Amino acid sequence: MSHDEFPTDAPAVVTCGLPYANGDLHVGHLRTYVGGDVYSRALKTLGQETAFVCGSDMHGTPVAVNAEKQGVSPEEFALEWHETYRETFPRFDVDFDNYGHTHDETNTELTREIVGELDANGHIYEKEIMVAYDPVDDQHLPDRYVEGSCPYCGEKARGDECDEGCQRHLEPGEIEDPVSSITGNPAEYRERTHKFFEVSEFEQYLSEFLDRLEGTSNAQNQPREWIESGLQDWCITRDMEWGIDYPGDDESTKDLVLYVWVDAPIEYISSTKQYTERVGSDVYDWEASWKNGGEIVHIIGRDIIQHHSIFWPAMLNGAGYTEPRAIMASGFVTLGGKGFSTSRDRAVWADEYLDEGFHPDLLRYYLATNGGFQQDVDFSWDKFRDRVNTELVGTLGNFVYRSLLFAARNYGGTPDATVSEAVDERIADAVSKFTGAINDYSIRKAGNAAIRLAQFGNEYIQRNEPWKLTDQEPEQAAQVIYDCVQLAKALAVLFEPIAPETCQRLWEQLGEHGDVAEMTADAAHQAPQGSFDEPDELFEKIEEERVERLNEKLDQRVAAATAGDSEQQDTDESMTDDSTGDTTDSAATDLEPIVDERISFDDFQDIDLRVGEIVSAESVDGADKLAKLEVDIGHEVRQLVAGIKQLHDLDELPGTRVIVVANMEQAELFGVESNGMLLAAGDEADILTTHGDAALGTRVH
Ligand SMILES: [Zn+2]
Repeated sequence: MSHDEFPTDAPAVVTCGLPYANGDLHVGHLRTYVGGDVYSRALKTLGQETAFVCGSDMHGTPVAVNAEKQGVSPEEFALEWHETYRETFPRFDVDFDNYGHTHDETNTELTREIVGELDANGHIYEKEIMVAYDPVDDQHLPDRYVEGSCPYCGEKARGDECDEGCQRHLEPGEIEDPVSSITGNPAEYRERTHKFFEVSEFEQYLSEFLDRLEGTSNAQNQPREWIESGLQDWCITRDMEWGIDYPGDDESTKDLVLYVWVDAPIEYISSTKQYTERVGSDVYDWEASWKNGGEIVHIIGRDIIQHHSIFWPAMLNGAGYTEPRAIMASGFVTLGGKGFSTSRDRAVWADEYLDEGFHPDLLRYYLATNGGFQQDVDFSWDKFRDRVNTELVGTLGNFVYRSLLFAARNYGGTPDATVSEAVDERIADAVSKFTGAINDYSIRKAGNAAIRLAQFGNEYIQRNEPWKLTDQEPEQAAQVIYDCVQLAKALAVLFEPIAPETCQRLWEQLGEHGDVAEMTADAAHQAPQGSFDEPDELFEKIEEERVERLNEKLDQRVAAATAGDSEQQDTDESMTDDSTGDTTDSAATDLEPIVDERISFDDFQDIDLRVGEIVSAESVDGADKLAKLEVDIGHEVRQLVAGIKQLHDLDELPGTRVIVVANMEQAELFGVESNGMLLAAGDEADILTTHGDAALGTRVH
């Protein structure tokens, strides 16, 4: 590793990918923001000087197009969303030290300054290129104003991104068979002068940079492949009015604005600068981090890796700024295995979650620890309930409550004793695991370090049975309870990054003063001294009925969204999909990492897999993808509904041997009962079958 371990002497900056000022936030978006907040809080717990910054992305064609449709100015449109985000993040305790936006004065000035520096350093040149143009509407068609097919993979693509295929960034003029996404008119290509950033010159630098780069492996591996296949220079101007004007007063650039991906990441610097302007450079010095080797950590969704691992470091290097130390690129959150979709209402909305009355810390815990950061995780209310009830209520909450209750009733707070060596060592071990996890860029492992400490606490109090000791061996009882209070204090400190509000409550229950968020990991070992009253429970159990009701609501919505899948491929709808966290069904072209959490053989045995044979297959009315299958599984013929219609010729399926999850919960899809699940691989639903002739109904081990 070429970097010193955290905490270092240099100031750190943690940033989150800018939300596009273009639509409501859903739980899928929150994964990146919660991840960033947890990470920056954890760095602060390690004693690392850290600024946590972000801002709204105001520019770009999606904003311009949607504003046009609503008949308002892009600025007015974007500012309204900006205000919504600014208010929503703190409701999840995502507490940016500064939250700006890309259209403010700081970012406009700094963007023009940096582009000016790149130009002065000889990294920008002018070139005549062909750009899409609508001859009927007499309008240039930058980025999302144009749609067509990807020149690399042939999938349907937007002007600037192959969003449904290979995920490549597309340069102006690259898209084939261009059509205006506004009017549907076939577009023609016209010659225009544009500015290019010479990314290809940075190939050597970027290769070395990627060797130094820390974070998640996807942010290094994919860019290496792109470099190997050769880097293209990058067109950084657009024929548009909405955006930041190209600097200088050159006649050739007077109608051009900068491409949104130039000024968007610069907001990371601008927002840090605003933070310094507000608190003073003695509290935090933005230049020390951005110009003098700070620890820059970017937390993003994996759909914007290319912008952060290639374009951005090249810009920073070319203009003389500090390169990122780490990029953590998260997988997506899916619903029933499919991407969230803003435009299709296939989502659990941020507001909706809070309106249900759930505490933000529950979702923070779920998003931070449910799967590795670069894996896709599926959101389900059942799993949410399960993890809240088992880990937060059953383990952490239970340990803290029984310990503090006993302490308050018998000693009026912390008993008179000192911590035992064994417990102190166990806390040291948790602190070390927490520190290791943060240096490993794993917020999940950091969360697990705390939960395992709580598990230890539960076993400790159970094993030592202090309630039996109070009369006969009062000193020993006091010792055990003192240890438990010390463990509770350590938990408040180490779990704070994930559950800040709950841990502050715990801190106060312990009779401690001040703000637990201000504490460093050392506080986990400092003697608890408070007297305190009987505690309240930290977490509330989620009842099954509540989840059943939420599932019903969600199922209806997902079914409706699935039903609309093909009709909604029209141009208007797909443009409102934002690019900060959405994924479409075929987006996962890269292999998902293997789940690192192992399951026992017993867990596997719970799944009753059987050999079956398809007897009949027919479409489900009103659903584009669903097929109704009759499958013979030896004991009986089952009716299954599977999302394979568009991928297979249904007439050819009868006689095909399949593997069925026989004990899958029954479900109803589009009014058709589904009694089991068919195994199939990947987005193409490649159906699993048998190699030999195992009898129908044979169990699969
Ligand atoms: Zn493509």
